[in-house]
Amino acid sequence: MNIHEYQAKALLRSYGAPVSDGRAVLRAEEAKTAAGELDGPLWVVKAQIHAGGRGKGKFKEAEAGEKGGVRIAKSVEEAATEARKMLGRTLVTHQTGAPGKQVNRIYIEDGSDIARELYLALLVDRQTSRIAFVCSTEGGMDIEEVAAQTPEKILSFSVDPASGLSDFHGRRVAFALGLEGGQVKQCVALIKTLYKIFVEKDMEMLEINPLIVTPDGQLKCLDAKMGFDGNAIYRHPDIAALRDETEEDPKELAASKFDLNYIALDGEIGCMVNGAGLAMATMDIIKLYGAEPANFLDVGGGATKEKVTEAFKIITSDPNVKGILVNIFGGIMRCDIIAEGVIAAVKEVGLKVPLVVRLEGTNVEKGKEIINTSGLDVIAADNLSDAAQKIVKAVKG
Ligand code: ADP
Ligand code: MG
Repeated sequence: MNIHEYQAKALLRSYGAPVSDGRAVLRAEEAKTAAGELDGPLWVVKAQIHAGGRGKGKFKEAEAGEKGGVRIAKSVEEAATEARKMLGRTLVTHQTGAPGKQVNRIYIEDGSDIARELYLALLVDRQTSRIAFVCSTEGGMDIEEVAAQTPEKILSFSVDPASGLSDFHGRRVAFALGLEGGQVKQCVALIKTLYKIFVEKDMEMLEINPLIVTPDGQLKCLDAKMGFDGNAIYRHPDIAALRDETEEDPKELAASKFDLNYIALDGEIGCMVNGAGLAMATMDIIKLYGAEPANFLDVGGGATKEKVTEAFKIITSDPNVKGILVNIFGGIMRCDIIAEGVIAAVKEVGLKVPLVVRLEGTNVEKGKEIINTSGLDVIAADNLSDAAQKIVKAVKG
C-alpha cells in the first residue's frame, strides 16, 4: 500500500526527521488560507498522486509552456492560483503511464534553498532478505537516468538484522553522499530515524529524493515516498487510515475487499485460477500460445461460491477481456463449488465473451456435470495446454 507525499512527511515529522512545514489541500477554496499559514517567501505547490516524476510531468490539455506537478510560487495568492490550476486535472508522468492520474489533493509547503540534491532510499532486498540502503550523490529528478547510465554512482548495502543498525551505517551513507562536518552527524541521526520508521511500520520502500543540503548545511527530506507491506497493514490502523482508494485500480480494490489476490494486466484473456503457482503457470501458457493475460487472479484455497462470483464479476468488468479461462485444480477447493460460483456469476452478470473451463481434482465429475447441465455456452477443456489453446483460439480465431 502506498501513501501520499504529505502523509509520508507527516510520519517523518512525527519521528523527528527534518521536513518543511506544509499544508494539504483538498479544495481550491482552502488553498489561500493554507498558504497563508506558511512563512514564505517561497511556496512550493505539489500535486499529490501515487506516482513520482511529478516535477517533470505534464498535465493533459496543458497550455504551451505550462509547468508540471511541482510549482514554485512567490506569494500566497500565486500559491493559491497554482493549486486551483492543478486540482481536478490529470497529470501524466513517466510513472503513471499514458492515462495519467487525476490530482485530487495538493500539498503546499515552504520553499527551500537548495545547495545539493541527494538520493536516499530504504527497501526490502529480497536477495539478502534484509533491509537495504540505496544512496547517491546524484539525487533529484534524473535518478532513473543515473541508474541506467552511471550505476557506479549508486551505493547499496544491507543491514544485518542480527546486529541491527549502528552509527557506522549512517557514516557510510554520509561519506558516500560527500557530507562533511556537522552534516555527518545529521546524516547518522536521520539514517537511524528512517530505519526505525521502516521497521516499526512494516514498510517495503521508503524513498527520499531529493534529500537536500541547504546552503547553510542543513539536511532536509524534500520529497518522500512510502510503500507498506500489505500483509502487515492489519498491525497498523494508523497507516491503514491513510489509504486513498481513488489512487487504486477499482478492480484491484474490489478484489482486496473480497480477499482475492488480483492484479490487473494489459492482455485480453481473463484468468480465474486457484493457487499462485497455478496462476503463474496459466499466464505463462497463455503467452506460449500467443495471447496475453488480462490479469493475475488467485481465488485461494478456501474460496466460497460468493468469492468465485465476485472474482468472475471483476474479470468481466474489464473491457479489455475478450475471453475467460477458468483453471482450477481442486485440492482443498472443490470443483463443484467453483462450478456453482461460475454458473451463479454468469447468470448474474451475463457472458459476452467465450469461456473455457478446465477442472481437475476433488469432485471434478460433479463440477463438470454442473457446468454441462447448466445450459450455458461453456467450452470444456481436459488439461492446461488444451484449455490455453482453446481460449486463445476462441479469442484470436
Ligand atoms: P517528483 O519527484 O515527483 O518530481 P519532488 O517532490 O521530488 O517531486 O519535486 C521535484 C523537484 O522540485 C525536487 O527535485 C526539487 O528540486 C524541487 N522541490 C520540491 N519540493 C521543494 C521545496 N519544498 N522547495 C524547493 N524546491 C522543491
Ligand atoms: Mg522526487
